Order: sequence, then C-alpha cells, then structure tokens
Amino acid sequence: MGSITRNVNQICRDAYDVIIIGGGIYGSMLLLEASRAGLKAVMLEKNDFGCLTSFNSLRIIHGGLRYLQTLRFSRIRESVNERSWFLGNFPDLVRPLPCLMPLYRNLTKNRLTLRAALRVNDWFTRNRNAGLPPELEIPDGQVIGAAESRQRFPLVRGDGLRGAALWYDAVMLDSNRLLMEVLRWSARAGGTSVNYFEVKDLLRVNGKVRGVVGSDVLNGTDYEIEAPLVVNAAGPECRAVAQKFSADNSTLFPPSVAWNILFDRPPLFDGAVAIQATSGNSRMYFAHSLRGRLFVGTGHAPVDGISAPGPAKEDVRAMLADLNRAVPELDVHPADIKRIFWGLLPAKQLGSVELATESVSLDHGQQGGPKGLFSVSGVKFTTARSTASRLITLMKGNMTGSGIVGLPDRPAPAMYDLHPDNCSDRVERIRRARALVDNEAPQSLVDLIIRRCDMVGDPDAAMSIALDCCTAFGWSSEQSNVQIQELSTFFKLQSMPN
Ligand SMILES: Cc1cc2nc3c(=O)[nH]c(=O)nc-3n(C[C@H](O)[C@H](O)[C@H](O)COP(=O)(O)OP(=O)(O)OC[C@H]3O[C@@H](n4cnc5c(N)ncnc54)[C@H](O)[C@@H]3O)c2cc1C
Repeated sequence: MGSITRNVNQICRDAYDVIIIGGGIYGSMLLLEASRAGLKAVMLEKNDFGCLTSFNSLRIIHGGLRYLQTLRFSRIRESVNERSWFLGNFPDLVRPLPCLMPLYRNLTKNRLTLRAALRVNDWFTRNRNAGLPPELEIPDGQVIGAAESRQRFPLVRGDGLRGAALWYDAVMLDSNRLLMEVLRWSARAGGTSVNYFEVKDLLRVNGKVRGVVGSDVLNGTDYEIEAPLVVNAAGPECRAVAQKFSADNSTLFPPSVAWNILFDRPPLFDGAVAIQATSGNSRMYFAHSLRGRLFVGTGHAPVDGISAPGPAKEDVRAMLADLNRAVPELDVHPADIKRIFWGLLPAKQLGSVELATESVSLDHGQQGGPKGLFSVSGVKFTTARSTASRLITLMKGNMTGSGIVGLPDRPAPAMYDLHPDNCSDRVERIRRARALVDNEAPQSLVDLIIRRCDMVGDPDAAMSIALDCCTAFGWSSEQSNVQIQELSTFFKLQSMPN
C-alpha cells in the first residue's frame, strides 16, 4: 500500500474517471484530491515526478503576510489554511520558520507599521494553530530591538538599524520528498502515478473527452488511456497543451523566469531573513538554509517564451550586487554559487516580472472546447492543494464519483535518508535504496539520489553513495558507469550561467 509501481501495460488497460497531465505539485495534489473525492485517477508525467518548476522552489510555505499590504484577506486565509494543512499532515517534512526583517528609517517598513501589521495578521489568523501539536504551532509575530536583531543576525547592516520584525512561516525540509509523499498517499487511496509517460493527444467523441494518447518515454510505445475527464496541469507548458487540445488562451501561464541561489556559505540566521538594499531599485529576497548552506531567492526577470534558457548572467550578477548592498559583510561572488535553481512562473502578462498572484483554472467545455477538458496554471506550491480541491469539486459536477469518498491515513514516511552522515551502514543504505527503487519508480540515479533523497545540496555525499545506489538498481558495471557519469554531469550543470 502506498507504492508507486510503473506497470504501463496494466495502467493502460484500466479505465479511469480522470487523467491528470503533469506530475509537478499541482498534478500531484490533483491526484490526491481526486482520490479523496472518490474518483479513479491517473497522473501522467513525461519526465520524473516533480522535476521541473516544483523542484526549484524556495521551499517556503507562505502564510500570506504580504497580502495584507493589498488587503487580500481571502488569499491570506487560503495561505494560512494550507500552511496548517501542510504542518498537520507532513510534520516530518514541514516546520515553522522564523522570519526576520531588519527595519531602518522607512516610510512604510518601520517599527510602527510592522508592529501594527503583525498584530492584524495574528488576530486575523488566530485559529491558525487549531489541531496542531505545540511544536508545530505558529507563534505571534513581534518587533524586536536593534541589539536583539544583531544578536540573531550578526551580519545585519548596523547603520540606522531600528530593530526587526519577527514572524513565522513554514518551510519544507525537502520539497520533492513532500511531493513523493503526496503520491504515496494518493497511491494508498487508489490513485495511480506514472513517470516518463508523455501525453501527446486528446481522444474525443461527439465533442466530449474520451481519454488521451500518450507515449512511454522509456521505449517509445504509444498507448490510449480512457477517461471522460482530463486535467492539463502541465505547468509552463499548460498553454501549449491547451492550444493543442482545445484553443489558445492567453490567461494560461504568461512566463517569466525566477531563480534561487544556493551558496557555499553558512546561513545568515536560524530561519529566514528578508533582505533588501535600501538604495537603488532592489527587490526583497529571503535567505534561509538548504542542508546547512545559504539559500536565497527569489530573483525574477522577463522572458519571451517558455523555451527561455534560465536567468542571464547579468541578472544573476545584479542579484549578487543587491545582496551585497543589503548585507555588505556577506560579500558574495559568482565563485560562491553552488547551484542556481530556476524555473518559469506565470507573470501578469508576457514580458513582465510582476507575478500572477492567483492560479487560473479553465473549463474548456464552457468555452466551446471539448467537454471534460480542464486546465490549471498554478502560482504557488503553497496553494497547490486548495487549487486542486476547487478544481476537482468543479469537475465532479460533470460526473458521479465511483469510489469511496475521503482519504485513508497517510502511509508511514518512507526511509529515504541515504546520506552517509545519517546512514553510515552500507547494507542498510542499499536496503533503503532498494525499497525506494521498488516503491517509488525512480528510473535513473539522478531520480533516486536527487529527487527521492534530496541530496542536491551535497554533491560530494551524493557521489559517494552512487555505487551503492547502482547496486540497489541491480545494474551492470557498464550501466552503473553511465548513470554515475549522468549524476556527475547533473552537478556540473548548475552554477553561473554562461
Ligand atoms: C525559483 C522559484 C521559487 C519558488 N519558490 C516558491 C516558494 O518558496 N513557495 C511556494 O509556495 N512556491 C514557490 N514557487 C512556485 C512553485 O514552485 C510553483 O508554483 C509550482 O511548483 C508549480 O507546479 P506545477 O505542478 O504547476 O508545475 P511543474 O512543477 O512545472 O509541473 C508540470 C509538469 O508537467 C509535465 N508535463 C508537461 N507537459 C506534459 C505532457 N505533455 N505530458 C506529461 N507531462 C507533462 C512537466 O514535465 C512538469 O513536470 C517557486 C517557483 C520558482 C520557479
């Protein structure tokens, strides 16, 4: 129970209520919510689960404090509910995150306004801890003095420092692991997920969806899968998929590029710090930690399409300059970059860096397209589940569910930690790796080490366990060499853009 086995022949013989295209966090949450709603669902991902945008997030589960500025209370409520949901259901992977924002002389961000904003936020979200154990509760925010700010964040720029706002959000210790746990939970509830399976076409009959045509990426065989409902959750590609299966719709995913930087430096604070240079036109960044290293985001730049190759060198340099102006003692350089995590996010419009703040869900049948086809373009990892839940409710109007409504308990978390510091016994490491190979469908060493075990921040440790993982797959030495080479290439293609 709770295992993801990749038996494409069998999967394609079954009939489903709903097919989900895309195995990022939106597709994964759609699978979970469809299963909760009693629908028999299959989610098809053309690469590995969670390998695209969802892999590159800053891993913060936002409580929506910033929506207070624009008085978007419903968005705050949704974010806080989702944060509580993540904390309550994934206590092994999500933790409260103290966030510190240094305050200087400023018209809008000063002690007075921040204290008032935190009070309003605390009052408005006063039920946020209902049902959570004490260690996962989100405390009230506060404004602390300059001396305490310096003590907590020793590199803080000291001239003119008035204190700091301190509030709490939540952080995912490992976002792809969380996505995998969502898939395991869905599997226990009857949901099916398949990686390396690309959806190529839509099957229709009399203007209604009948299913999809897809291809097993590992051997090139085409299959038909039947279902009266199809959701396009293809992330940055959702507009292209919608255009092919129905009609173009410009509200779906006008792309912009966004990136986070992992530095070979220690974190600045035991939590996240909001840093922004007071001079120039600098944006605000959040700096926290990934596997004990400084992790900062998010930079944004415009792009003219989804084939954008990632952030340009000058954009990354501009971000480093911003960080050094905000925290001069940090003094980061391109040589300090360990990895750039980047992906595309929907902007308000093409060519803009102003991000869309609401997910877009479309019922193509309502717009003259095939009945039973839906698309979703998501904006945040945080709100993937609530967006999925609303969409499944909308879709369920189109049919009567066939299964049991509700979710079984989440399966016990998988033993996924293969890091040599935490699992030094080689026999135990191979045993854990083999269980992941058998139950979570990794097809390559990168799938296993990077996306099942989150060792992206520690290349040396990852390379040191590569051979043991090849043993778990049962590969020949020739296959193992190819896979180890691929893993090494994955780590090389990571730092400053050319
Ligand atoms: C730099 C950065 C930082 C971020 N930080 C945060 C944060 O701190 N907190 C937060 O809440 N959010 C954050 N986000 C936003 C969040 O990561 C995204 O909103 C979310 O991951 C989008 O998920 P998705 O499932 O829509 O897309 P994706 O993860 O891109 O998934 C779409 C999937 O569809 C697959 N696909 C496409 N076409 C097909 C096809 N034809 N057949 C089968 N599969 C197909 C793709 O391979 C892909 O895996 C950040 C994003 C970025 C880029």
